[in-house]
Amino acid sequence: MEQDTPVQSMNGAAVSASKSTTWLGRQGAAAFDLRSDTQTTPTLEMLRAIEVTTLDDDVYHEDRTTINLEDHIAALTGKEAALFVVSGSMGNQLALRSLLTQPPHGVLCDHRSHVNRYEAGGVASLSGAMVEAVVPKNGVHLTLEDVKENVCLGDDVHVCPTKVISLENTLAGMIMPLDEVKRISAFARENNIKMHLDGARLWEVAASGGGSLDSFAACFDTVNLCFSKGLGAPIGSIIVGSKDVIKHARWMRKAIGGGLRQSGVVTAAARVGVDTTFGKGPNGEGGLLKTSHAMAKRVEKIWTDLGGKMLYPVHTNMLWLDLESMNCSGSRLNALGAEQGLKLSGNRIITHYQVSEEAIQRLTNVFQKVAEEKTNGHDLKRKGDDMESGIYKK
Ligand SMILES: *Cc1c(COP(=O)(O)O)cnc(C)c1O
Repeated sequence: MEQDTPVQSMNGAAVSASKSTTWLGRQGAAAFDLRSDTQTTPTLEMLRAIEVTTLDDDVYHEDRTTINLEDHIAALTGKEAALFVVSGSMGNQLALRSLLTQPPHGVLCDHRSHVNRYEAGGVASLSGAMVEAVVPKNGVHLTLEDVKENVCLGDDVHVCPTKVISLENTLAGMIMPLDEVKRISAFARENNIKMHLDGARLWEVAASGGGSLDSFAACFDTVNLCFSKGLGAPIGSIIVGSKDVIKHARWMRKAIGGGLRQSGVVTAAARVGVDTTFGKGPNGEGGLLKTSHAMAKRVEKIWTDLGGKMLYPVHTNMLWLDLESMNCSGSRLNALGAEQGLKLSGNRIITHYQVSEEAIQRLTNVFQKVAEEKTNGHDLKRKGDDMESGIYKK
């Protein structure tokens, strides 16, 4: 006879799960994986929601679970409509494709932004747009002054006119303040430029008290939000905007093979991620994200108490270690992490609600080892060592 196995739910309470579920709680791999919040695994509540989800066709626009999720996120962000997509890259690309019409057109963004660096050049191949990648003067986020210096206005035949300003929040875990977003948005609107927000981690901004989802969304024509990072859903993102733009995005989603049939199996889990991990209110009230921000701050303190420096301030759940300040390299850090059973990705560390207390203990051991090696004069900057040793670069 099958026995029920007690496991931990996401909020730490013991729940009974039959052995037939793949849920592993904090014993799962994500507990020791600090490479990315994409490594979070679906919670027991998500698996339960999948069991009882509707199984209708979303290309025919008949699946209630999916439609309810889209309506709910549209309402949360104060937009008319929403469209579920399989990934954040697909969301960004469809939103940009829907805001742009035809060349010549340019998309202005931070040089470090996901749409510029990590979407396989989709802005060029799918929208035929030129990316105007800007280095922010303050090193943290773009300002209106950065935008004004780089934007292309006017209709001189030599130039590629900026048609969309694409911002990202958080970017590298850092918050772009709402006031700055408002300034840029007002300038864009005066100049007939559309605004897109890659808000893959906008949930983290809201949970940290940086401003509600709808107050940011009001500054943009389209916003992309991810369910499969800190929220813990297995798959999916969503874009929000006006009815017209979302209608066009739905059409383009079909064109690139993103029309889903029984999408309830993924949207049911995404909904649990919003309600439980993010929390019910517009600022993540009652959710779990704040805890991972506090954890990131603790990790920062452990590192800096040992003499390490940071490359960027820690605003939410992401840390950028200055490994050179400790004579360490990304590959050395990864190796020390592996000895402790931790998965690390060079100098970028991400906390999420599944990271265990035990993982922080082990990470402390890793940091102490790094400090010891520095004291002992090891030169870890060996030839060929990758200083960052992750996909994502500062
Ligand atoms: C993760 C992420 C995305 C989307 O990534 P996918 O892997 O395509 O879901 C988009 N923008 C940012 C800033 C991200 O961190």
